[in-house]
Parts: sequence; structure tokens; C-alpha cells
Amino acid sequence: MRIAVGGIRHESNNFSSLVTNLEEFTIARGDDILLGEQFIGHGDDVTFVPTLSAHAPPHGLVGTDAYRAMRDELRDRLRAGLPLDALYLDLHGAMDVVAIGDGESDLIRHIRAAVGPNLPIALSLDLHANLAPEVIAAADIATAYRTAPHRDGVATRRRAIDLLVTQLRAGRRHHTAMVKPPCLIPGEYAVTDVEPARSLYANLDTFDRRPGIVDTSIVIGCAWTDSEYTSTAALAVGERAAGEATAREIAAGIWAARERFAPEVPTLAIGPAIARARAATDTPVFLSDSGDNVTAGAAGDLTIVLRALIAAGARDTLVVGICNPDAVAACRATGSGARISLSLGGRLDTRNGTPFDTTATVGGLREDGAVLTIDGVTVVITTARDGFITLDRFAHFGLDPRAYRIVVVKTGYLFPEMRTIARDAILLLSPGFTDLDLARLPYRRVRRPIFPLDRLLAWAP
Ligand SMILES: [Zn+2]
Repeated sequence: MRIAVGGIRHESNNFSSLVTNLEEFTIARGDDILLGEQFIGHGDDVTFVPTLSAHAPPHGLVGTDAYRAMRDELRDRLRAGLPLDALYLDLHGAMDVVAIGDGESDLIRHIRAAVGPNLPIALSLDLHANLAPEVIAAADIATAYRTAPHRDGVATRRRAIDLLVTQLRAGRRHHTAMVKPPCLIPGEYAVTDVEPARSLYANLDTFDRRPGIVDTSIVIGCAWTDSEYTSTAALAVGERAAGEATAREIAAGIWAARERFAPEVPTLAIGPAIARARAATDTPVFLSDSGDNVTAGAAGDLTIVLRALIAAGARDTLVVGICNPDAVAACRATGSGARISLSLGGRLDTRNGTPFDTTATVGGLREDGAVLTIDGVTVVITTARDGFITLDRFAHFGLDPRAYRIVVVKTGYLFPEMRTIARDAILLLSPGFTDLDLARLPYRRVRRPIFPLDRLLAWAP
């Protein structure tokens, strides 16, 4: 059996004024797509037919020309691969394109035009997907990650492929049912090790074993994609009637839990958070600059928290990583040990920030960044938007976050290695393209009414 493989993955942030261009995408073609473990061990009767697979980190909307170039190449390679028995598509599910809108809907339409209405399609999705009914209706199989922070990308992709191969061998078709509770939930409120997400996700194993069901998913959605499809969703793959009943039941569980989704850690305004961190005896205290969270599509160049720390006289403090390629170049030209006048940040997110004019001492220098000291605060500036989610990333700059009392990162929830070493963690209610205070965001396309923006007294699947 010939299974085509492809996909375009992006989490697009509509509140960003920036556009994700083609250069930001990592694009694989041909056999390079098939290097992942998920493609190994499916049997001699399975031939994967690679097309195009592209992904970029979360950021502003995808540029129209960039998207069309990837879409058209994927479609043309798909056509060239015919005849096919099925298609596996690796998607994020929260892609939005400047002049097009919902990216996955458009992609599916163009794929269907190329392969016809009947080719079985299996999808793997991020759990931060905003799913159009049209996309799910086009797929026999759709399955999403079950962990946030994400640790099961390969497992999810393998599950999608396994379900597809099993269905093809059995000579029948699965159906994916979807029910969407009208809830906007920021990713920070749905960490899957923390209630209520932990129990909801743990229950999926039970739903998976129901008669007529082969797989189920809970999709949280991406609250920073302002799309008509932004919301939570429940998916159930299997027989139509069993799937629809199961998806309704899972959706009812999401709806019932909506008020309990909350961050695992305290959320505080910048001032009170700095005061609490400075008073801490058990350190390091991690402060997440959640409004400028690059792992959810923010610019990563705001200096608001840095300025507040300097104004408060913070010491033993590390701030990573402010994106500013020009400043990195200036530091590299000046050299380690020099004093330098810099105008930091405020170039990408000009809605929420302005450049910070300061004098810094240059420390460690790398191709992709520089370590600075500004009024006793250690700052890493970088050439690209950078969430510093692993200890290795700090070590690359000769730094160990455990050596500081306060560490500021441009993420929302802490990724596992940071969570392990943080003695206390606070989500800053900081401004930016990924503002956690959804009421502050200028939604235009999200379908209303929706929790928590509107008073929704009752909803039933
Ligand atoms: Zn995600």
C-alpha cells in the first residue's frame, strides 16, 4: 500500500504584528521526510511516498506567498505520487494565513482537489489546534498530542500512521467525530500534569477501549489564534455512532471543567512578582514573561521585565533571551570585556515595547548571542527568538540558571528541565502578543459567545 506523507505545521498568532516568512520554515522534501522513528516498522507492504513537510516555530500569521508556495508544492508532489492508497498529514492545526484565513481548511481543499474525494486521510495534530469542521470531516483519522509541554510528538505521529495502516489492512473506513465546547483556554492553563487536564487526559485511555472506538483526543486550542475555529475540541475515531456519542461525552467533561483550568503557578503583575522573587529564601525563582512567550508566537524582544528588575535594584538575576540580532553583532564587533551603549529590543513587538537605551558590559560571545551585564543584571541577547527551554541552552552561553536567585524566561509554562530546578515559579501578567489576560486582546473572528469572554450559562454538546 502506498501512503503519501506530508504536512505544514504552524501555530499562528493573530495578535502579533509580524508575519512568518518562508525563511522561518524548516522544509523537508523527498526521503528526508521519512527519517523519524514513526515511519519505522510498519511492514513490507507499506510504502511511504514523501511529498513536502514544513514547520516553523509559533509566530505571527503565515505570509500568503510563503504558504501558497508550500501548499502548491505539496499538492504537486502528491499528484506526482498517484496512485495512492492513503495520505498521512502532519499538521499543527492552528495555522492562519494573512490573505486566506484558516490554513488547514485551505490546505485540505487543495489536497482534495488533487487526490479526489475518497482517498483516506489521517491527521496528527498538536493539542493547541483550532479545528475547522471541514478539516476533521475530510479525515478518517485525527489524533492529537496528549502532553503539554509536548513530549509525545513521535508517539502521536506513529499512532496516526498505525491507525491508518490498520484501517487499510482491514479494508474499512474509520470516522472521526468532533464536538467543540465553546471555551478559550490559554495553554498555560492546561498543563497535562496538572488538574483538571491531568484527569481529563488520563481518562482518554478508558474512552479508547470502548467498543467501536480506536482513539480519542482532547484539543485545548490556541487562544492566540483569532480564528472562527478557535476553541477546545473533543475527537473520537472509530465507528460513526460510537464516535459521536464518545466525543459528546468527552466534550461534556471539558465543559464541566472549564472554570478549573488555571495555571499551576501563581500569576502576578510584574511589580508584585519581582517583590516576591526578591524576598524568596529558596531559589532560583523563575519568572515567565508570559506576554512575550516565544513558544506561543510572541516577538521575544520586549525589555519591560528587564527594566522593572533594574529599577527595583535586582541582583543575582538572569534574563534570557532578548531577541536583537543587531545588538549581538555590535557586541561581537566590540568584543568581550568592553563597555557598550546599546538600544535593546522593542523592534519586533513595537505595539507593546520600545527600545531600551542602556550601557552594558559584554561578557561571553557566541555566533547566536551575547551575555551582557546591565546594572548588575545578567542578560542574554540572541539573534533569534529563543525560549531557553533546556539547561543545554544556558550552558551554550556558559551559564547555569541554578546560580541565580531570579531567572526570567520568555515562555509561559516552564518546560520540564526548568520546572525541575525552579524552587518557585511565577507567571508574569506581562504585556505582549501572548497576553494571558484574554480580555485585553482584540478578538475579532472568534465565534461568540465563548467562555470566558462571555457569560455563557449553559451549553450542551
Ligand atoms: Zn502546542
